[in-house]
Amino acid sequence: MAATAETATNSAEIGGLVARLSREISGEVLFDSFSRGRYATDASFYQIVPAGVVVPRSMDETLRALAIARDAGRKVTPRGGGTSQCGQTVNDGIVIDFSKYLNRLISLDVENKTCVVEPGLVLDDLNRQLRQHGLWFPVDVSTASRATIGGMAGNNSCGGRSLRYGTMRDNTLSMQAALADGTLLHFGEVPRDLAGVDAPASGVALFSDMLALGAREAGEIAERFPKVQRRVGGYNLDALVPRNAPNNMAHLLVGSEGTLAFTTKVELRLWPVIRNKVLGVCHFGSFYEAMDAAQHLVRLKPIAVELVDRTMIALGREIAMFQPIIAAAVRGDPDAILVVEFAEEDQDENLRRLKQLTELMGDLGFSWGNPPRKWGGVVEITEAPLQTAIADFRASGLNVMMSMKEAGKPVSFVEDCAVPLPHLADYTERLNAIFSKHGTRGTMYAHASEGCLHVRPVLNLRLDKDVKAMRAIAEETFAMVRDYKGSHSGEHGDGIVRSEFHEAMFGARITADFREVKQRFDPENVLNPGKIVDAPKMDDRALFRYPPDYRVGELKTVLDWSAFPGAGGGFQGAVEMCNNNGACRKLEGGVMCPSFRATHDEKDVTRGRANTLRLAISGQLGPDALASDAMMETMKLCVSCKACRHECPVGVDMAKMKIEVLAARVVTHGLSLRDRLIGYLPRYADLASRLAPLANWRNRSPLLRYWFERIAGISAARTLPAFRRDVFAPEAETSGPAGGREVVLFTDTFNRIYEPENLDAALRVLVAGGYRVHLPKPAQGNRPLCCGRTFLSAGLVDQARRELGRLVETYAPFAARGVPIIGLEPSCLLTLRDELLSLRSDEAAKAVSAQALLFEEFLVLEAEAGRLQLPLGAIAGKALVHGHCHQKSFGAFKQVAQALRLVPDLDVEIIESSCCGMAGGFGYGTETYQASMAMAELSLLPAVRKADAATLVVADGTSCRHQIADGTGRSALHAARVLALSLDCVNSNPAHTPAEGHHHG
Ligand SMILES: Cc1cc2nc3c(=O)[nH]c(=O)nc-3n(C[C@H](O)[C@H](O)[C@H](O)COP(=O)(O)OP(=O)(O)OC[C@H]3O[C@@H](n4cnc5c(N)ncnc54)[C@H](O)[C@@H]3O)c2cc1C
Ligand code: SF4
Ligand code: SF4
Repeated sequence: MAATAETATNSAEIGGLVARLSREISGEVLFDSFSRGRYATDASFYQIVPAGVVVPRSMDETLRALAIARDAGRKVTPRGGGTSQCGQTVNDGIVIDFSKYLNRLISLDVENKTCVVEPGLVLDDLNRQLRQHGLWFPVDVSTASRATIGGMAGNNSCGGRSLRYGTMRDNTLSMQAALADGTLLHFGEVPRDLAGVDAPASGVALFSDMLALGAREAGEIAERFPKVQRRVGGYNLDALVPRNAPNNMAHLLVGSEGTLAFTTKVELRLWPVIRNKVLGVCHFGSFYEAMDAAQHLVRLKPIAVELVDRTMIALGREIAMFQPIIAAAVRGDPDAILVVEFAEEDQDENLRRLKQLTELMGDLGFSWGNPPRKWGGVVEITEAPLQTAIADFRASGLNVMMSMKEAGKPVSFVEDCAVPLPHLADYTERLNAIFSKHGTRGTMYAHASEGCLHVRPVLNLRLDKDVKAMRAIAEETFAMVRDYKGSHSGEHGDGIVRSEFHEAMFGARITADFREVKQRFDPENVLNPGKIVDAPKMDDRALFRYPPDYRVGELKTVLDWSAFPGAGGGFQGAVEMCNNNGACRKLEGGVMCPSFRATHDEKDVTRGRANTLRLAISGQLGPDALASDAMMETMKLCVSCKACRHECPVGVDMAKMKIEVLAARVVTHGLSLRDRLIGYLPRYADLASRLAPLANWRNRSPLLRYWFERIAGISAARTLPAFRRDVFAPEAETSGPAGGREVVLFTDTFNRIYEPENLDAALRVLVAGGYRVHLPKPAQGNRPLCCGRTFLSAGLVDQARRELGRLVETYAPFAARGVPIIGLEPSCLLTLRDELLSLRSDEAAKAVSAQALLFEEFLVLEAEAGRLQLPLGAIAGKALVHGHCHQKSFGAFKQVAQALRLVPDLDVEIIESSCCGMAGGFGYGTETYQASMAMAELSLLPAVRKADAATLVVADGTSCRHQIADGTGRSALHAARVLALSLDCVNSNPAHTPAEGHHHG
């Protein structure tokens, strides 16, 4: 295989290099095959395994790493979030990752609206820090949650609103950067005679040569550089030509993709935040008409004009959460809509422009009445929530499109060509013709205001014929773009995809100029070679993530992956879904990915894990990599929160994949004592309860704690949940009024053994609501029912299957009658909705799964159906609620707040938290304890500590409650307890007496 981790040399020379780097760099020096594999890809379709990776802690260390690599004759590639789409960040030298440590806002000048940042700072992070000052950095790339300023400058990135704010280049005031030889230079505005420039002589000479090149080539540049604003291909030679104002040398570095210098600081221009805006949704009966109209609509100076086509509208209509948005924003059956955004400071001005938009559309022949010459018109959107919903829909619609499971995928290579607006309609029509000529199709979305059309034709790059089609489409499209005097690289940069076409696009002379620039900056070709100049062929399959000899051998898997193609019953296809877009690297909002938020390591993010799995199953990490120690290390901090399943744009489900890894590990390495203790808990929990004082001895004895840590790897810093004798053990199998609506209450092991009062509370609430509650005895065997969760977390899939089998057999008769199966512990109950169906696909299992509901989900459904009648009394206080990750992943969290809001006077507040970090057995592990606490400290524990003593802290997860108790000393309650408390607050409440027919055993 041409470019795999296996083939990289591990010679004595590398050993010497690693030794020196490790001696002189305190940050991470990663030269093992797993780490190198994780840095071999970005959001492009390429893969080149680097010789090694350095994650420096300071700029000094960065420059030292650069010097050491250069001494060793190695190439160096700087990297931020690694979200480039054209292969900019893949190379076979040493990758230097700026994102982990070099991410500070160095200084901020609010008055002059400027700031200086380190290159690893993520855009959203910067904007979070600016918000309080009423400022923002407006190059709002779609990858704002993980794109770094250094990477954005490297690619000359553009946001959706570049019509007003321009590109990265337009907003970069100056840069500090290190040349390949280590010289640090300030790149900023300079007079053409360079008088007074503060730089060493070699720097002044470099600037002088560059300005001379600009003067020499001014004519050619004027002739050959496309005039569209969206031109990010090649070096920005136009920044060097003589002009009436000073030249800004930083603008040559912007867009240079790490090939000229290492950026060490960036000075940015900031803008006031947008306070007011309105949207006009322009409807068109044909796609062509929409594209043709864009050139006219921009005359009204909108801030953005975005296209949504028929396919995306149809997708939206199919998805429940988008249906109301489409209903509000879309009239009739348009072939395409253009969403026109006005965002002036004065809202009256925005409304005026909206009116003008309707008039202009009318002039173009699109108006709803009169009768229209052409079908179409404008829907005006002035309410902020609907505006946000439309933006969310646009983003998600694209994700839905990207989530196709078949082997062919939308591929980015002509994705961002830009043409002058008058040609946009013809261009799109001809582009569609090129796609169909080559047997493919693509859904289009465009920054219509700038003629930059986004489109990814669907291709399977493992097939030679599709690779040939890709090349042909690229050549024909770029030739067409050249005819229109457009830009073949309108947003995403050059990388490997576009660089070879520079000569065709700019001509031989400008291409030679590009080479001259590179040669003058980096004569030894150290910095990210093969990008912009002297690039390999874009269709060199040896450089692909799926090269011709890519194979996944037969794999034995334990779960059902049949929704996907490939080996292991589809496991291969599921793993390969990750397209490296990096959304899992976001640092705020949602849950994904808590382990990355705690460590900022590529190893600990969903993407890093998916890449490692892909390399492992395709044999690129050596034999038996799937069950290896290094794979366990990769999975170690995955808390199986299932957030990725929900939040990853293509639904990569790492928690489920981790079960495969654990199961493979059990087969090859057996079971550790800790996994045995955790996995088999449901089997011995009842016995331990009977012997509670003895079983809890470990918590009281420091010696035993120490001993447990040594032999079982359970952190001595942790208390274990205390066993108690009064477990939940009702005698009656049924409670509540005989004619009441039937429900089953699932008594999971954790609540049954450790916190029976939660089940008591739930039972009381349900009975008070008039429900007939069944607590059926197991159909098989005497031991209580169990969902198998703990077995799954230890990789004991057969045992989990057995437990689920007993549960299904017991509950199936109820499920067949449509009786809801209600549970309290999210991770247990939701196993019935999730893993159960990966283990069994029979009708009984499907019926049980379909009836499984969390307690609050049930109450909310009943309330919505007008059936819920609970005699709840007021609790004049506050409830602070933390959601369990699985509740969030399954869209079952908002119901917790809704259910709590049934309590009169209770003020319900949600904690914006990710995973609590406990995650079943994870928080107890000696080696994972620190990470567990770090996750909890990100937001959950500080929020709980801030709450006053009277506030009720609510958390439905057993683990979450334990973590809150360990971290803050406060007892959190299951929501069922709060509702039961509310029952107690009604003096005349007949449900005040304990529900009949049960007692604690
Ligand atoms: C789904 C998706 C949507 C996207 N949407 C947009 C969009 O709306 N607009 C847009 O413009 N792009 C978009 N992109 C492309 C990409 O996200 C952006 O170019 C982004 O700015 C890259 O940031 P990064 O931190 O990931 O950079 P990386 O990919 O890590 O690096 C980008 C380049 O900068 C260089 N570099 C990084 N750090 C330094 C440094 N310190 N010194 C010198 N060179 C450095 C790298 O070598 C590389 O050549 C999108 C990509 C994806 C996957
Ligand atoms: S795991 Fe999902 S979110 Fe993360 S990079 Fe892969 S596809 Fe993107
Ligand atoms: S399950 Fe959670 S911790 Fe594991 S990869 Fe997914 S988001 Fe990250």
